[in-house]
Amino acid sequence: MKEIRKIEPNIWQYVFVEGENNPDIEVNLTALLNGDKAFLIDTGFPLHANQVKEDLLMRGIEVEKVILSHYHPDHAAGVSEFDNAQLSCSVHYKENYKKCSEVWDSKHNYKHPDKVINNNETWKYGDFVLTFIEAPGHSKCSLITLINDRFAHVGDLVMSNDEDKPIIPYISEDGDFNEHVCSLEKIRALDIDSLILSHGKSICGKKDIEREINKREHYLKSVIESDGKADIETTLIGGSASWSYTIWHSKNLKSLM
Ligand SMILES: [Zn+2]
Repeated sequence: MKEIRKIEPNIWQYVFVEGENNPDIEVNLTALLNGDKAFLIDTGFPLHANQVKEDLLMRGIEVEKVILSHYHPDHAAGVSEFDNAQLSCSVHYKENYKKCSEVWDSKHNYKHPDKVINNNETWKYGDFVLTFIEAPGHSKCSLITLINDRFAHVGDLVMSNDEDKPIIPYISEDGDFNEHVCSLEKIRALDIDSLILSHGKSICGKKDIEREINKREHYLKSVIESDGKADIETTLIGGSASWSYTIWHSKNLKSLM
């Protein structure tokens, strides 16, 4: 574990390094604390999940609920460490569940959710009011979790690396450029002060949030408007050197075909 970031006294983020394939991408597991119970957003890989479980247990806290920002291996594989917790994710999870278990990462055990989440569903959890907003684009099953109308956990819709460089938006197999733009618009419309990411440090303050959303929108829209033909340098504000994971650009273009 790299560190525990305390976003609020009762919102903690456990930060890990993803691993060999992506050594400069951090994986964050976000814990909402409620007395001796916790609600986890994302689970990382089992190695990450196990350390979070043990750390919380050491403090007398048990994870009782888990939700996934979306059903990809680096968010969902760790669920196997939380057998007794209730698992929830988007109602659109099935295709990626299948790909996780059969194609992408069959060495880990994946779980079907105990409960699926519909768009705009609101839950109360201790002192938290949580609203889940469908936000496809990175993947079909992506959810934004709005926490107490103050924080938004945005999953992989906004990502940055361990040096705080923006990571280019990634359009996975069931992702979509136009939907990704719409989902960024949804984040903007929330008009809040803090974005919690699955990969990278939180983005705080409306000005910084607006700037970071703009950058990603500029990339997505430039690619859409040029039908994928735009030079990557013109799609990335500040040029490709100020971005990370630009190698994903060529993969992204496949989704336009
Ligand atoms: Zn991810």
